[in-house]
This record gives sequence, structure tokens and C-alpha cells, in this order.
Amino acid sequence: MKPAAAHGLLLSSLCLALCCRGGARGSPTSSDSHEWKKLIMVHHWPVTVCKEVEKDCRDPPDYWTIHGLWPDRAEECNGSWPFHFEEIKDLLPEMKMYWPDVIHPLNHSHFWKHEWEKHGTCAAQLDALNSQKKYFGGSLGLYEKLELNSILQKLGIKPSINYYQISDIKDALASMYGVVPKVQCLPPKQGEEVQTIGQIELCFTKDLRLRNCTEPGELGESGRAWGLGLEVCEDGPAFYPPPPQSTR
Ligand code: 5GP
Repeated sequence: MKPAAAHGLLLSSLCLALCCRGGARGSPTSSDSHEWKKLIMVHHWPVTVCKEVEKDCRDPPDYWTIHGLWPDRAEECNGSWPFHFEEIKDLLPEMKMYWPDVIHPLNHSHFWKHEWEKHGTCAAQLDALNSQKKYFGGSLGLYEKLELNSILQKLGIKPSINYYQISDIKDALASMYGVVPKVQCLPPKQGEEVQTIGQIELCFTKDLRLRNCTEPGELGESGRAWGLGLEVCEDGPAFYPPPPQSTR
């Protein structure tokens, strides 16, 4: 299938994914001070998360998992809307598989609470995401439909001891999704030759259509990412680290 055709199919399935998942609940109050324009689906590479926090994470997943679904420029929109684990109990198997707490794998719910309070309460301004079940279920739906793991495989982009050129990864992803992604890296630590790939972001409009994460000339092409020690990757070589003990 040609990339353009794949893109059209992807968009309609993404909308369908969100409409079908999660139940409705009372909606939050929106606040002008938290106005945002795009939603960022943030995938992270667990091996790099473990490297950054310098934690001996036991068996980090060997696939890209969800860090969060983040509105840009919006944090902690509704402090009176606490996280209730009960509301997403039905989603537990998928949450543990695709949205694990990589750093604390024995207690995921603290991470989910954090993501809800910081980002979900802002995303919930959209009818499609206006409950905890819809926010987490909708995020899982987007993740599944984006199929980042299999798309990277198809593109031949696999964890390797050889380095990749960041422009090759960005161009390959852009050709598949039809939009400009953002790729975040850990800068090289002392003694390291190159940056390490950590996050891949794909962005959506408020009506949940894929859009470029950055437009030409838009600020934010470089600089520090939210969280961890990640930064927008420099053009040039990057390490996509295999899981520990992997010989891939
Ligand atoms: P944000 O707070 O915007 O959602 O993301 C940044 C924070 O997420 C950072 O403090 C980073 O350490 C944390 N983080 C990233 N991945 C994980 C994870 O898998 N588990 C936990 N507990 N924190 C994470």
C-alpha cells in the first residue's frame, strides 16, 4: 500500500477508535488560561527511560509504550477532578501492556494518576476525552491505530548497535504518517559518541486528525522536552538501544 493511501485509512480509523472507546462522564470546566491547540501522542522507548533515570529497570518492554497524550501548553487544568482507578479498571490489561510505568513496574497507577492530573484534565476539554475512561481508552485507541511498533519494523528501523541518522527516521515516519513527527533524544553523556533516541511524538488537531508536530518556522523545533533529560534530537547520528541482553 502506498503511504498516501495508508494515511487516509489511518485517519478514519483513528477517529473511529476514539468514538468507540470509553464511556461518557461529567465534563470538566474548561479554563481559558489553559488554552491549547494540539494533542501530542508521546511514545517512549523503555530502554532509554531506564537509562535516563539510571535505574536498573527489570526487563523493560522491548516495544514502544505510551508516555502520555498531552495537550500542548496545558498542565493541571482541573485540580478538583481526582484520578479514580476504578473508572479505568476495565482497561487494566491494555494499560499494563501499553501504558506501563516503566520506572515503577510494580505500581503503575501512580504514573497514570500523574498523567491524568497533569495532562488528562486538560485533554478532557474535548468531548471525545471528557472522562477518565475516555481519556485513557482514547489514548490506547490512538496508540493501537498508530501502530508505531509495526511501522518502525516495516521501515527496517530496529534497535541496533549501529547508529541511525535522525533525518532518515523522521523522513521515513513522515512518509508513512503523512505528517511531521517529533523525535526526542537523550544528549550524549560523558564518554558517549552520540545521542540516544527516547521519544517519538505524533500530533493531532482538536478534532483528532493527524497534523504536523511542528510547522516550518514554528518555535519549538529545538530545545528541551518536557520531562526526563530529553531534547529534540540533533540532526546526525543516534543510538536506538537494544534491550539489555538482546543480541539484536
Ligand atoms: P510528564 O510529567 O510531562 O508526564 O512527563 C515527564 C515526567 O515523566 C518526568 O518526570 C519523567 O521522569 C516521567 N516519566 C517518564 N516515563 C515514566 C515512567 O514510565 N514512569 C514514571 N513513573 N515516570 C515517567
